[in-house]
Amino acid sequence: MLFNKEIETLPLDKLRKLQNEQLRHQVHVLYNRVPYYKQLFDNAGVTPAEIMTVEDLPKIPFTYKSALRDNYPFGLFTMPRNEVARLHCSSGTTGKPIVVGYTLKDLDIFAEVIARSLSAAGCEKGMLLQNAYGYGLFTGGLGLHYGAEKLGMTVLPISGGGTDKQLMLMQDFQSDAICCTPSYALTLAEEIRKRGIDRNSINLKYAILGAEPWTESIRSEVETKLGVIATNIYGLSEIIGPGVSQEDFEEKGTGSYIWEDHFYPEVVDKDTGKPLPYGQQGVLVFTTLSKEASPLLRYYTNDIASIYYDKTAKRTHIKMSPIAGRADDMLIIRGVNLFHTQVESVLEDIAHLSANYQLIVSNSGAMDEVEVRVEAEQATFEALSKDNMDALMHDTFVSATRALQKKIKDNIGLSMKITLQLPGSIPRSEGGKLSRIVDQRKK
Ligand code: ADP
Repeated sequence: MLFNKEIETLPLDKLRKLQNEQLRHQVHVLYNRVPYYKQLFDNAGVTPAEIMTVEDLPKIPFTYKSALRDNYPFGLFTMPRNEVARLHCSSGTTGKPIVVGYTLKDLDIFAEVIARSLSAAGCEKGMLLQNAYGYGLFTGGLGLHYGAEKLGMTVLPISGGGTDKQLMLMQDFQSDAICCTPSYALTLAEEIRKRGIDRNSINLKYAILGAEPWTESIRSEVETKLGVIATNIYGLSEIIGPGVSQEDFEEKGTGSYIWEDHFYPEVVDKDTGKPLPYGQQGVLVFTTLSKEASPLLRYYTNDIASIYYDKTAKRTHIKMSPIAGRADDMLIIRGVNLFHTQVESVLEDIAHLSANYQLIVSNSGAMDEVEVRVEAEQATFEALSKDNMDALMHDTFVSATRALQKKIKDNIGLSMKITLQLPGSIPRSEGGKLSRIVDQRKK
């Protein structure tokens, strides 16, 4: 179902016209009301009048996260704080958080793009959404909440974590859909199995997963173990929160629609900053077209993906590939660029290994080394353990780890040490984002 059919299927020429009109207005507002943007334009020798269409965007320099930090807390807002209806913050791993503001109209748009997203994920009016995204300063909880209400769903605002209660209410209330991080969906799926909960007592049909990078390997594990259709939701606080893009449940694996009437995407080269053609992977850059309180022009997300039009799709809006990782999380190992999602993708094809893994990066020798710690698949492990032997040493697992090592070497070009772990031994998500990389390098 399309929540807003007219907009979601708007012909491209009309979509461009709408984007261009909004962009001109946005540029005018930012230049006149936000000193940071006036200076950015003046320093670059660009005038607002030169930005007539989205094709002119590359004339404007990028806005980086540092601009939000330097103008903390409200320096990039277009209006006084007392005209802003809500504030959210993104965690910001060090120091002060990033602050974003929303007017009532911004909150309406947030709810609109989430309603479209949930609809694309398979959700419908009347279904019950277990909202296991964190409530609070994080945009996920409240963002999904109001969008689900707008779609006409019943929302269970359970927030992240508290696995016992999640599982109890999931059964008692017969939740139809759940939204959370992919790693927490795995945690829940595992707990269901561990506790021997009858799958028939669970009514989940859809899982809307995001906030961290994930691949097909996690998708297949979540889908089989939870019995759901799992789709990707992407977003970042600086642009609005989740709901910048969403995958359609009937077009799984072909990318996520970017709601481009509100968020104009570009992909640029990580090293040169030059715009890249459709289909090429680079850094995602977004311009908010309709946001009132804290709009941004050409925001450099650091997220690595590609964008492309899918002519066979239900909607006209552009799609983006899954995020390979964040440019600042990319490892460079012996000259080879590595995202942890590349290892995760390889895992999908290897039987008897689970999707729970961690990369340990060290440099105790002369060079950087990566060790892949991966858990044995529970079912295989249990079957082999029955013979009262050290199951991890069994040929089945020895061949599986060898196959993984070879595939990593063939696909990624790096030799990695593989260490097989007992099921359940690698840290799990307790509700939030999970870090898959442990960097032990001495600087
Ligand atoms: P924080 O900075 O506190 O993590 P945000 O929610 O703003 O808060 O984080 C946004 C970031 O999370 C994105 O820039 C991206 O790196 C990551 N992210 C969000 N959704 C996805 C997704 N579906 N796939 C991959 N990464 C995602």
